[in-house]
Parts: sequence; C-alpha cells; structure tokens
Amino acid sequence: MAGFGTRGLRPEQPCPCGGGSYGSCCRPLHRQERMAQTAEQLMRSRYSAFALGEVEHLLRTQPSEEPLLQRRRSLEATCRQLRWRRLVLLATEAGGPGDLEGTVTFEAHYSAGGQRGVLRERSRFGRSGGSLAGPWLYLEALELSD
Ligand SMILES: [Zn+2]
Repeated sequence: MAGFGTRGLRPEQPCPCGGGSYGSCCRPLHRQERMAQTAEQLMRSRYSAFALGEVEHLLRTQPSEEPLLQRRRSLEATCRQLRWRRLVLLATEAGGPGDLEGTVTFEAHYSAGGQRGVLRERSRFGRSGGSLAGPWLYLEALELSD
C-alpha cells in the first residue's frame, strides 16, 4: 500500500508538493479551510492529494459528467498504484488571483511496482462559474508542445 504511506501526514511534515510544511501549504486546501488563490496552488494541492490519497479533494476540484462512485473508485485505485515522489513546476501562464483561467506545466515523478516514471502535463484551470468569486477548478490536460 505504498500510495497511502503518507496518509495522515502531520502539519509540520514537508508537503508532498515541495511548497513548505504541509500545514502551511496544501493541508488547509484539503480540509476546505482555505481556497486556492491561484491555479498553481490548486495544481499543487491536487498533486499532494494524489500523493496522500485525499480523493475527496480531487473529486471536488475537477468537474466531470462521470458518476461520482465510478470516479471515486478509479481515483482510489490510482492513488494506491502510484507513489508520487516529486513535483517539478516548469511554467505557469495567467492563473493568478485576478484571472479566470490559467495553465500550469509540470513534471510529476512517481514510482509504480518498482518502476519509476514521469508524468509531464500542461493543465488548464478555470474558475467555477466563470467569475472571480468562483473557486479554481482543474479542467483538462492540454497537448504538450516540445
Ligand atoms: Zn503543498
């Protein structure tokens, strides 16, 4: 159960996303005590949620037409199979407190069944309801141009 090795991470422990202590970084977002101010913050919190098995945070922050139960099962399986090792941010475009949309390009390093891999993705984020009052949501993975 390598994927759940860090579940129940204490606030003073390092956040999986590399942004400082868990308690001052992604934990308040996972616990819905604070909203992501930027697309990058949401991206980081989703990476950490994958690393920690915080499936409800993942469900909450990505709109989908798929039935909830199915999504929850597939996310739980992903969290169990992959052990997320490291996040490297490569670029961000817009996605600030005054923006409605933004993209974040990153590398997520993982291991699965003794093999190491890297997921490289450019994610598109937008605000719920298309207004500045709406929380950031993960919308889709865009084509990567090298
Ligand atoms: Zn974090």
